[in-house]
Amino acid sequence: MKVLIVGAGPTGLTLAVELARRKIFAKIIDKRDSASTLSRAVGITSKSLELLSHSGVSKKLIEEGVPIQTACIYRGSHLALTMPLHSSSSYFPTILGLPQDRTETILAESLASKGVQVEYKLALNTFREEAQYVVAQFSNNEEENFDLIIGADGVHSVVRQNANIPYPGFDLKELWSIADVEVDDWPHPQTFTLAQIKSGVVVVSVPIGKNRYRFVASCEKALEAFPLPLRIHKVRREGIFKISIRQARSYSKGRVHLAGDAAHCHSPVGGRGMNLGIADAAELARCIAEGQLDRYSALRHREDRKVIDITEHGRKIVTEQSFLSKIEFSALLAAANHLPFIKRRLSRFVVEF
Ligand SMILES: Cc1cc2nc3c(=O)[nH]c(=O)nc-3n(C[C@H](O)[C@H](O)[C@H](O)COP(=O)(O)OP(=O)(O)OC[C@H]3O[C@@H](n4cnc5c(N)ncnc54)[C@H](O)[C@@H]3O)c2cc1C
Repeated sequence: MKVLIVGAGPTGLTLAVELARRKIFAKIIDKRDSASTLSRAVGITSKSLELLSHSGVSKKLIEEGVPIQTACIYRGSHLALTMPLHSSSSYFPTILGLPQDRTETILAESLASKGVQVEYKLALNTFREEAQYVVAQFSNNEEENFDLIIGADGVHSVVRQNANIPYPGFDLKELWSIADVEVDDWPHPQTFTLAQIKSGVVVVSVPIGKNRYRFVASCEKALEAFPLPLRIHKVRREGIFKISIRQARSYSKGRVHLAGDAAHCHSPVGGRGMNLGIADAAELARCIAEGQLDRYSALRHREDRKVIDITEHGRKIVTEQSFLSKIEFSALLAAANHLPFIKRRLSRFVVEF
């Protein structure tokens, strides 16, 4: 079977690895000059590690990543909740912190060890479907026939647009910010911290390496917004970004299938963006190998929808100023502080979600 994967982000790479271990060797292309060096998604869930364990990728991710042991929630600079992050029923007991470029490098190395190299500097321009195959046209003006084209080409997916698959949803008005920094003497190196500094603004910090942390905030200056003292040694990267909440109406149309950000996007609350792409890719590889492609779209659309809805609910609780959101957040903190079984369930939910 001839498969073209457009995009070598975490989704495309996972799909290529999962196909290669089943002896289906896809062509995988990316329009970038070389592998990305951006740290974008930093939390790898236990579910993703389980999915990537069959190829040996998880072992390497676990060797390099930071196991996040505790979650602390602040309201202003007041510590409102401390919670161990642990689940004994999942593949890995907690969430792993690792910059996305390292995850991608480990996936690409695994792929290369199976005999497949990413073809960089090659973009898909367009494609047309014929009765027996689909014809891809590339940026080098060459054309090639494939049985399947997979759009793992991110939010602005050319594959999705060419297939005329709607991507309904909405864009949030506010700007969010991100900072990737080295910090000296941070007293809680394996802790996920969420601080609600005033109604409507939330700042999160995640450990992603030795003395290295990712800050994300629902305002324009993540580092300034963080309410606890920080001794910043070096700012590696800072930026602002906008958030959209969207999901493709269908993930499949004829010989074309979508996965990852090409199929859905949502807020970073919950840190699930990359993890959903990994889950889509693992399922798509299974469906291709087992001849069940007709099931892929409905299966993943439903699962992703659940996560997008929960993530949206979480974002509203911590960032919206409505009376209901404030009450819900306060009630959750009070319940977790006073009822140990609620704290355990919340911890398991965060790890297994
Ligand atoms: C600032 C920022 C912070 C984030 N933080 C988090 C986080 O903390 N946790 C989390 O889970 N997620 C986070 N995300 C989201 C996460 O990065 C994405 O969900 C993830 O990268 C999606 O992977 P993907 O492979 O589907 O798409 P992408 O990573 O976008 O990869 C798509 C690839 O396709 C290539 N491409 C596009 N068009 C073409 C074409 N026509 N031909 C060939 N190649 C093409 C692109 O060059 C790109 O390499 C963050 C994103 C951003 C921007």
